[in-house]
Amino acid sequence: MRVDEALILGAGPHAFALTCRLLQESDKFVESKDASVPLQEMQVRIFDRHGAWFTQFKHHFDSLEIESMRSPVSFHLDLIDPEGLLNFAKETNRLDEIKDTGAFQQVKSRSKTRVQGLVRDRKIELSHHSKKLFEIPSSKLFLDFLDHLVEQYGLARVVEKQEVVRIQFCRESRIFCVFTANGETFHFRKLIYAGGVSHTPRVPEKFWDWYAHYPVFHSWDILQAGSEKSFNCSMFENQRVLIVGGGLTGAQISVLAKKRGAKEVTMVVQHHLKIKHFDFDEAWIAPSKSGGEMSLYKRMLSWKTSLNIRTNHRSASITPAIEKDMKMLGVKVLDHSTVSEISRPESTQELKIELKETKECLKANLVIFATGSDWSVRGNRLLFNLADEFDLPTNSGGIPVLNHDLSWGDLPIFLSSAYACLQVGPPALNLLGAVVISKKIVDGILLRSSEE
Ligand SMILES: Cc1cc2nc3c(=O)[nH]c(=O)nc-3n(C[C@H](O)[C@H](O)[C@H](O)COP(=O)(O)OP(=O)(O)OC[C@H]3O[C@@H](n4cnc5c(N)ncnc54)[C@H](O)[C@@H]3O)c2cc1C
Repeated sequence: MRVDEALILGAGPHAFALTCRLLQESDKFVESKDASVPLQEMQVRIFDRHGAWFTQFKHHFDSLEIESMRSPVSFHLDLIDPEGLLNFAKETNRLDEIKDTGAFQQVKSRSKTRVQGLVRDRKIELSHHSKKLFEIPSSKLFLDFLDHLVEQYGLARVVEKQEVVRIQFCRESRIFCVFTANGETFHFRKLIYAGGVSHTPRVPEKFWDWYAHYPVFHSWDILQAGSEKSFNCSMFENQRVLIVGGGLTGAQISVLAKKRGAKEVTMVVQHHLKIKHFDFDEAWIAPSKSGGEMSLYKRMLSWKTSLNIRTNHRSASITPAIEKDMKMLGVKVLDHSTVSEISRPESTQELKIELKETKECLKANLVIFATGSDWSVRGNRLLFNLADEFDLPTNSGGIPVLNHDLSWGDLPIFLSSAYACLQVGPPALNLLGAVVISKKIVDGILLRSSEE
């Protein structure tokens, strides 16, 4: 029986950072060469149902027609050059695709007047050079840069097209059995889960029956490559669309719906629309005065997580740019509102949606829940089965409680992305998290190997 050393499950941003880190740390990182050879020597395999890097990630941007990244130019996946994306833009004459959003000015004026604890426990240096680090790349530039990294690090041929349908662990042999959709079985000593968050939409339980049928959807039906409940943007045409949720994805869908001919778009927001340039503290971007030009990655790694994600809820926000688009296109926002009932009067094709606070009744032909995904392991069949059988620790919200090296319980499985949020904090959900998590996991794996 062939037993390989490790499986990286997934080929998104997290898997990419992990793969680069593994090659780099094990001295096998050779630029511009075929990395499939060192990976074979290390007995590391990478499985993704799409068989290529970043398919799901790229699909997010295509499906919502997102023109720019939310994160700044300093957030990317080049583990060698912290200014890799900026340099790529310079080399390819595409600096004009990196735009100023006003975030730098905002941080500067805030830190001057010492409003709020942005600077918190450390002084930040806001030089002219730091201004560039606050700017936002176009998504096209960013995605092209990812392709460039894949080529540069010789990773084009390393992803195997396999969909993992079941994982078993044998305590005696300490080996994972991995079963794939095409009936094959593989064996690994370690498993690194980089399959992204579960594809289980978070829809309030009372509306599950509605969600099972047209015309109620979840944002994931638009975002997921090959979603079972397929959504076509032509469905927006001439419709009254109601979007539930006040995060960036809901806002992006509202703009898309308007652009694709929706007659009326209303966004129902539980609290109020929170406007923020980034979904993290801007102080992370600027270099620290005391630490000199310490790299962003080092600063992130020294960041002490506030562990404020106790449940799988976080406060959503939208960017000033998307707020502007929403206003321009006439998206209506109902804040401090919760959907309490959905019904369909017999005589009509329209849905009636009642709001809890005002008892107001809205009409819509299309309802889209942009209420996030389930980060608990309950929503992920592969992880849930392991948690259940081996009594792996989770918090009350079902989020994995991992060890320092992001391994889970006493199993040689390591979890990335949102599943590492209790240990890594909110960045677990973005690209910076991919960089931080890859370091923690690979350090842990190397330490284990040296002890074995
Ligand atoms: C619309 C949108 C915009 C975003 N913009 C930004 C931004 O500007 N900046 C930022 O920092 N972050 C952004 N993010 C967040 C960022 O996308 C996530 O942090 C990142 O995609 C997570 O990467 P991942 O590798 O965990 O997951 P994914 O990109 O989802 O990759 C997981 C891969 O695993 C594969 N997979 C899953 N299960 C299996 C299985 N059973 N068998 C085989 N393969 C499997 C999937 O096919 C997929 O390719 C954005 C997210 C969205 C949705």
